[in-house]
Amino acid sequence: MLLNCIDLYKTYHMGDTVVRALDGVSLRIDAGEFVAVMGPSGSGKSTLLHVLGLLDSPDRGVYELLGRDVARVSENDLAALRSRRLGFIFQQFMLLPRLTALENTALPVIYSGNGNGGRASPEDLLSEVGLADRMHHAPNKLSGGQQQRVAIARALMNRPSLILADEPTGNLDTASQNEIMSILQNLNARGITIVMVTHEEEVAERARRIIRMRDGHIISDDRKVPGRDFSQSAPGTASGESEGSGEIPRIGWKLVAREFREHVLQAVRALFANKVRTLLSVLGILIGVAAVIAMLALGQGAKASIETRLASMGSNLLVLRPGSRQSHGVALEAGSVTRFTTADAEEILGIPGVRRVSPSVTGRGQVAAGNLNWNTQITGVLPEYADMRAARPEVGRFFTADEEQSRAKVAVIGMTVVRELFGKVAERRADGGASPNPIGESVKINRVNFQVIGILPEKGATTWRDEDDRVAVPLSTAMKRLFGKEYVDNIDIEVSRAEDIPDVEEAVRRTIIKRHRLPPSLQESFQIRNMAELQETLTETSRTLSTLLASIAAISLLVGGIGIMNIMLVSVTERTREIGLRKALGARPRDILWQFLIEAVVVSVFGGLAGIFLGWLITVGMSKLAGWAAAVSPDAVFLAFGFSAAVGMIFGFWPARKAAALSPIDALRYE
Ligand code: ADP
Repeated sequence: MLLNCIDLYKTYHMGDTVVRALDGVSLRIDAGEFVAVMGPSGSGKSTLLHVLGLLDSPDRGVYELLGRDVARVSENDLAALRSRRLGFIFQQFMLLPRLTALENTALPVIYSGNGNGGRASPEDLLSEVGLADRMHHAPNKLSGGQQQRVAIARALMNRPSLILADEPTGNLDTASQNEIMSILQNLNARGITIVMVTHEEEVAERARRIIRMRDGHIISDDRKVPGRDFSQSAPGTASGESEGSGEIPRIGWKLVAREFREHVLQAVRALFANKVRTLLSVLGILIGVAAVIAMLALGQGAKASIETRLASMGSNLLVLRPGSRQSHGVALEAGSVTRFTTADAEEILGIPGVRRVSPSVTGRGQVAAGNLNWNTQITGVLPEYADMRAARPEVGRFFTADEEQSRAKVAVIGMTVVRELFGKVAERRADGGASPNPIGESVKINRVNFQVIGILPEKGATTWRDEDDRVAVPLSTAMKRLFGKEYVDNIDIEVSRAEDIPDVEEAVRRTIIKRHRLPPSLQESFQIRNMAELQETLTETSRTLSTLLASIAAISLLVGGIGIMNIMLVSVTERTREIGLRKALGARPRDILWQFLIEAVVVSVFGGLAGIFLGWLITVGMSKLAGWAAAVSPDAVFLAFGFSAAVGMIFGFWPARKAAALSPIDALRYE
């Protein structure tokens, strides 16, 4: 015996009315039978078929399939039973429109694994139903009869024991109807049990047993060829299988890989089928990821520039400079009251805790090499300056204490000056771009001859000043030979230990007040800038900026994720019947979950990739336009990719779970 129903009840409540779709149905069907279920509309035929096909469950009563009480079978095992023992044929064919006939036929394979002694080849099955020349046609290129034949081939894919057909000829013309019925009769002759719902007498005539229903009852049950029992004699699939049916083969990892590939392929197909929708739904992710990529790249550039600036500020540095701070509401002009000398610097060097001191003078100067001229900033400093301000040349050298003492005419020049004076010379020589080497060359600064001995390390441009557009010369040379100054413009003071900075600052203040005999009214006429504080502020600012950028990125990814979730929910609703079909073909809830999850991830990763590309374009564009040293790092690309995949996972989960939780019959009946 293939199946046995004992006293099945199924009741629907529609508002106040109670519909008894099954009202105490008992029925036995043996292997090899061909049963037609007939009755007027609403008599419970489909409900019975759905219960027999494990798509629906009765409220009450026992249903045994292949000797197992299905009420005790887990959801996954029910799916496995549907996959390996049952084949469904629907009135509306239920082919997936985006797949070819061949792919539709092979669809059940992804849920069935290799169990059941090997499955049929989809090509053979299509040839069997007479569609050898239509394999690669899409369903909408096939006639109704042809579509139903594809559906039959699909039902045969896993060599089922029982085929359940719900009005298989309901939508067909008479010729196609005859074809389909011949195929079904043929299958039955080969031993496959068929249960078919129909309301047409001539169709039912082709079956060998006719069950008539009314109001949820079986009112008659006639066998046309009594006594013939296929369970003993039928060849092929039907016989002998019932015994082994308790075992439901487990699905191996290999299948998971195939299923994965299948889902990815289908997801990509779905994406391209709805191009505009896909684009709109990934827009959020795309913009988010592009923003992350561009921000990270530009932020990196900004950070690098801040870091060089920090380094060039030196560490534990105090800068003493005259005036300019507000005093009693009146801004004193810089240097108007207090001017510093090298003697002040020497005295400051004697303060405990002070490590190095470098006074400096600054002025504009005209630098000339050959017949080229360049106006730049000239700074006179002590040799200590090189280390205090991270200015030690990588090419050439800084000047020495001896050179400073002897007012030597040596200069260390910045990269911009090199480019302006020597780069152009090289260009003019047109000697194939030989790099200009100005070391040892002589330049005129304000008409005084200097020898170039080194190139200042490159610092890059900040928004307000080109740090490389300058020349450093010995302090004494600058004061006496270039500017004729007796006073220094400011004094850099390096403190040995950071914690001493406040004490040293106070000591410097007192020293200056004492040396210059400043009355209380003028004690504000100079200022000591604490560079450490400034550094902290800068670091703090850049950290705040990064946090800000990160939260903007997070928000846009969140918005992108919501976009994905939205589109996935739409997709699940739109494809409810497809989900029902897949469940009928043996998909477990897990398979459906994976399908939609993979689709969500494919969508978001697609958006992520497009976003990475857009972000890269923005970065390249910005760094070209603004001259920033910004580059997309591989880290950022991985990060963005990972994030978009994660967004797909997280925001796709709920819709996917919703799809997985659909009951097969509700999904199939969804309009
Ligand atoms: P048939 O296939 O013989 O036309 P059905 O089995 O589809 O009959 O339905 C039997 C009765 O159950 C009908 O009155 C139908 O309206 C009702 N019914 C079936 N499914 C549902 C459902 N999901 N919700 C409410 N009523 C239903």
